[in-house]
Amino acid sequence: MQFIDLKEQYRRHKSEIDTEIAAVLDSAQFIMGKPVKELEAALALHTGVRHAIGCSSGTDALLLGLLALGVHPGDEVIVPDFTFFATAEVVAFLGATPVFVDIRSDTFIIDPTFVEKAITPKTKGIIPVSLFGQCAEFAVLNEIARKHNLWVFEDAAQSYGAIQNGKRSGSFTPVAAVSFYPAKPLGCYGDGGAVFTNDGTLAGVIRQLLNHGQSATYEHARLGINGRLDTLQAAILKVKLRHFEEEMAAKRLVADRYLERLAGVVRLPVVAPGNTSVWAQFTVRSPHRQKIVAHLKTKGIPTAVHYPAPLHRQKAFAEFRLDDGVFPESTQASAEVFSLPMHPFLETRDVDMVADAVREALQ
Ligand SMILES: *Cc1c(COP(=O)(O)O)cnc(C)c1O
Repeated sequence: MQFIDLKEQYRRHKSEIDTEIAAVLDSAQFIMGKPVKELEAALALHTGVRHAIGCSSGTDALLLGLLALGVHPGDEVIVPDFTFFATAEVVAFLGATPVFVDIRSDTFIIDPTFVEKAITPKTKGIIPVSLFGQCAEFAVLNEIARKHNLWVFEDAAQSYGAIQNGKRSGSFTPVAAVSFYPAKPLGCYGDGGAVFTNDGTLAGVIRQLLNHGQSATYEHARLGINGRLDTLQAAILKVKLRHFEEEMAAKRLVADRYLERLAGVVRLPVVAPGNTSVWAQFTVRSPHRQKIVAHLKTKGIPTAVHYPAPLHRQKAFAEFRLDDGVFPESTQASAEVFSLPMHPFLETRDVDMVADAVREALQ
């Protein structure tokens, strides 16, 4: 059994993907070719934003967004303590201070009550992460930001396509970052990402930043990076996007079956009211994680731990000298969470086999 079945996905869409790849090879427009623009238009339409800007990875999407917002050394940016490293990495990389905040135990998402308590005169913004496939609490977070004159920047690396009260992930905040890492809900065949915004000025700045700050060929208006999305990846993503909704519908059936079969066995993921999930991960929790994971392994069922340590414990953030006691929920979550196989091609019998194995492990 595969944890995420990228081979099967390619098998199903092979002729369309191969045709798109061949067209790029024939055109030899490997950088900023036509598929990049076509993909950007399709992403903007699907998400309901004015500007979708393809870039080299989700991490670079975060970096580009922070550069465009103007984050400087000494600034503080609020981030969840429980997320992939990159969310806080980019903040610290720019010399600013990531201020970690605890999560809600049911959704694993940043708790707005603690966000408000973490605000200081140095705070510039908040990066909520729409973790595991569902949106953070944007109505509350945006209101907190408005009150304190901060920006909100959605880390939508795991939530492309998710809906909150009728609107898509990536459309709630002045700027949002998406990842197309292969295992993400919408993945390419290498690294890729996108920045979403409705602000034309920000969009213009980000387009320059990702291309060495160029305002025209060999005219550099500012310092930037090489953060472009490859034409080949854009061409592959165009095909994947066409099949995205059908794949998400199939994943929802898998999730529903897990929820039914694992009720009362492990602590199940909660989708907050008003949210849909694109199930980037199906993450459950149990104090008996080690035993369950070991038993599943003997049955050939892969699992993963997202994430085994909260960010405040990472060596790279040791300078901030943070204590477990400040983050009880993220600390406990990291000790108990594990993710089960989740992809659109799991059959009912596969899901039942996983659920039965989890049950057996606890007997
Ligand atoms: C994957 C991920 C990123 C980074 O995306 P890459 O495309 O791998 O650079 C950032 N934040 C979160 C929450 C992620 O899951």
